[in-house]
Amino acid sequence: MDKRSLLIFRAALLILSAGWAGGVLAGAADPAADVIFHRGTVLTVDPFMTEAEAVAVKDGRILAVGSAADVLKYRGEATRMIDLDGRTLMPGFVEGHSHPFMNMLVENMAVDIRPVRYARGPQVMDVINAAVARAAPGEEIVFFGWDPVIQSGLKNPTRRELDALAPHHSLLIIGNSGHVAFANSRALEAAGITRDTPDPTGPMGGSFGHSEDGELNGRLDQGDPILAVMTPILKNRLSDPQKAVELVRKGWRQCAGNGITTVDDSMIDEQYLHLYRETAGLFPSLRIRGYAVHYKTWKPFEGDDLIKVNGAKVFVDGTPWTGTLFLTKPYPANPLTLEVMELPPDYIQKPYISPADLKTLVDDCLKEKRTLEIHAQGDAAIDMALETVEEGLERYPWPDHRFRIAHAPMIRDDQLERAKRLGVQITFLMSHVKYWGDILPTMVGEERGRRWMPAGSAERIGVNYAFHFDGPVAPNKPFSVLETAVVRKTVGGRILGPEERVTIDEAIRAYTINPAYQLFMEKEVGSLEPGKFADMIIVSENPRTIPPHQLSDIKVLAAYVNGAEIFRAPEAIPPNR
Ligand SMILES: [Zn+2]
Repeated sequence: MDKRSLLIFRAALLILSAGWAGGVLAGAADPAADVIFHRGTVLTVDPFMTEAEAVAVKDGRILAVGSAADVLKYRGEATRMIDLDGRTLMPGFVEGHSHPFMNMLVENMAVDIRPVRYARGPQVMDVINAAVARAAPGEEIVFFGWDPVIQSGLKNPTRRELDALAPHHSLLIIGNSGHVAFANSRALEAAGITRDTPDPTGPMGGSFGHSEDGELNGRLDQGDPILAVMTPILKNRLSDPQKAVELVRKGWRQCAGNGITTVDDSMIDEQYLHLYRETAGLFPSLRIRGYAVHYKTWKPFEGDDLIKVNGAKVFVDGTPWTGTLFLTKPYPANPLTLEVMELPPDYIQKPYISPADLKTLVDDCLKEKRTLEIHAQGDAAIDMALETVEEGLERYPWPDHRFRIAHAPMIRDDQLERAKRLGVQITFLMSHVKYWGDILPTMVGEERGRRWMPAGSAERIGVNYAFHFDGPVAPNKPFSVLETAVVRKTVGGRILGPEERVTIDEAIRAYTINPAYQLFMEKEVGSLEPGKFADMIIVSENPRTIPPHQLSDIKVLAAYVNGAEIFRAPEAIPPNR
């Protein structure tokens, strides 16, 4: 179903479902609520973006939403009352594409050199040198966030340069995109990688870099080679199970503290899933969905309401920042692309997967009724994805497939139209506009740069789109993403492609109900309506009325999953009044 008909369908359902005006479930036998939130503004994010005054919760689900008078009817002797004190209650954010476990590792076990923290190359080198100087003997040193395209003055290092920098430690520098890394000799040795090690043939592809004499040059392209070097390091770091548990606890708390109540792991594997499941009983967990590169490991939609693996994941191309977009027109030739990114003139990356292999995967997924997330950033990659899905659907029709294209920064209008026709979902990595927006027009040309992440066009065309931050690529701050979508201001102060702005209501939907639909959860989360899970957040200001450039200042005061508190800010209002 496309977005407009989805809205109409949902509106019809709501009207049928017994009286919004009363905010009461039809035929409910007047049960007492477990909790009532009242005396505030409630953003329901229903099809009409209705604002209400109170919400009643029972057994983890929303019992009633509406005026205070209507909802207070459900107050029983044991009902806990939560006074919103004029604050805003809204659905928790649905982060539809990120890498939570990677994010936890970066935040806790790697030295953070991301461009969101350090804008200039010399700062990054200072941080790297200081970390090497203070490392204990034998300790591995991992850095995350190397990004020479915006951290001016950095040049990708060779193995020999890294050996000179850290002769006594294993050293690994991971690029901010997660698609490239650089290792020294000790790190490669510890992972058992030699000049004769063949490139991985796994579903993520990738290669070990070699210099002209055939020796390893330390460069690792794509997931599997990076993972090969990471594995011995991770084994050491996580040898104490308690450490892994602490890592997850902190990670979920950080997400919840930013208003996220559902998170999607867009490269879930058995280890992460195991950890998420094991820890879910130990402390409050987020709701988790996953897409798996090694998708045969799971049955389609395997799991429960809390943790479920929806489908498969595949990469058609790479990332803008390493020159690995599969494009119809090459990167322009200029000092940024030729010298900093080290691209040959007129370079166009080949797709990571052959058309035949993509066809097999798409057909498999359609036959098994397993959804598929396709990473496609360049417009040629998006063409290949849409073409393969269209042909697959002719062979194996599945109207409710909800296949989606991840990131899609360069999606053209004709491709948005085609996606809409095919029911293909789009999810935009909106933080690109804020953090990389200043260099995009130079990197890909003015016209393609200013249109980057064209949410405004997606809205006009009526395809269902969502926003995400792709942690650890960008910080997990949904309100900052909403601000970027509405204002499109870069860190350098430029307004990038104002015609691609969306309204605040559209932006809120793109971080709640739209991704909920993409994750097959639109009947469970993404809006505050009777029968849905009580996954909600209390926030300091109403995002619909605050000036748009202040959206990222909104504070999350409390977060709930199944009506149970999973986060409370120190400055939050007391729980019982
Ligand atoms: Zn990702």
